[in-house]
Amino acid sequence: MSIRQPSILPRILLSPPHVSGREQAYLEDAIHSGWIAPIGPQVDAFEREMAEYTGSKGALALSSGTAAIHLALRLAGVSQGDCVICSTLTFVASANPILYLGATPVFVDSEPETWNMCPLAFQRACQDLNDRGMLPKAAVVVNLYGQSADMEPIVEIANRYGIALIEDAAESLGAFYHGKASGTWGRFGIYSFNGNKIITTSGGGMLVSDDTDALDQARFWSTQARDSAPHYQHSEMGYNYRLSNLLAAIGRGQLELLEERVERRRYISQVYSDRLGSIPGLHFMPEAPNCRSTRWLSALTIDEEIAGFSVNQLLKCLEFNNIEARPVWKPLHLQPLFENAFYYPYMEGHSVSDQLFTKGVCLPSGSSLSDDDLVRVMDAIESCIQNR
Ligand SMILES: *Cc1c(COP(=O)(O)O)cnc(C)c1O
Repeated sequence: MSIRQPSILPRILLSPPHVSGREQAYLEDAIHSGWIAPIGPQVDAFEREMAEYTGSKGALALSSGTAAIHLALRLAGVSQGDCVICSTLTFVASANPILYLGATPVFVDSEPETWNMCPLAFQRACQDLNDRGMLPKAAVVVNLYGQSADMEPIVEIANRYGIALIEDAAESLGAFYHGKASGTWGRFGIYSFNGNKIITTSGGGMLVSDDTDALDQARFWSTQARDSAPHYQHSEMGYNYRLSNLLAAIGRGQLELLEERVERRRYISQVYSDRLGSIPGLHFMPEAPNCRSTRWLSALTIDEEIAGFSVNQLLKCLEFNNIEARPVWKPLHLQPLFENAFYYPYMEGHSVSDQLFTKGVCLPSGSSLSDDDLVRVMDAIESCIQNR
């Protein structure tokens, strides 16, 4: 068998930054204006444009999505000893800020339809915690891989129990649920502009809300909580969490092309499922009705018994071809960091996130992936299957 030397083929990455060229003009503007600072006109404009795009009353630009979650939890009144509900199938950044506040995360499982928080399991968690006298102040609901959770029932349950909903839309900027932007369904929503996200500022985040008083409070905390006095006076603990004016300039250039980025990622996902979807044992992540996922990552599961090959075999084979692919996030209730946390599965004895973790793979999905490279990924997958 002759094998093409894979090392001479350039590496295909999972979700690299996609530079448009429009960042340059804004960036030059920022530099020439002298605003090389964590405040400035680019920050103000980026906040306005993000509020406008998402349909929120206000937006606060921050140094990361993690910082935005931290401030949202503090705005929700979370403090030492409180419980906070969090989706289990997510990146650790969804839950770390719960620990920053000395609170205890409680994890809720996914549903098969969206891979996101199951409303019934959420309801069960709220009722059980309430019965134990541990009713959570807040819940962090994650929209995985660009797809919104089923927000209508989740909002209804949260309201019924008086729980503040924080939507972790780090992966779903550009997605819609029932015609309304993902990230605007809770009391607070957060986005991330980390390098791997659909648009990036290299690093950065945004907190959005219709509660502009709350955003003012968060703005105050994010700039070291300086009381209004000429001599630095402080009555509360603050943080240094603001976004640089230079990075906001990059963000504005990126935001202009968000719709194109979403279209490209959706196209990539469609091409994958059209060509590979009929392979026995392969199931692509579903798209929920009445929703537009951004398909930030194209994800699928492999039923090893039916497909005749495993996730690890596929990952190894793609790696051999110099193609980056990843397993689905390891659920947080399985992480050593959270080994004593409460966990509410989909059903008694049936954890959906455990299965998605065991069977799931994310394929290269960047909007800069060329048609040729897309074909290269699919050829590699098919040859892996044939040569197993
Ligand atoms: C990327 C990400 C975050 C963290 O965002 P940063 O800007 O990197 O701090 C939080 N939650 C989820 C689900 C993410 O994917």
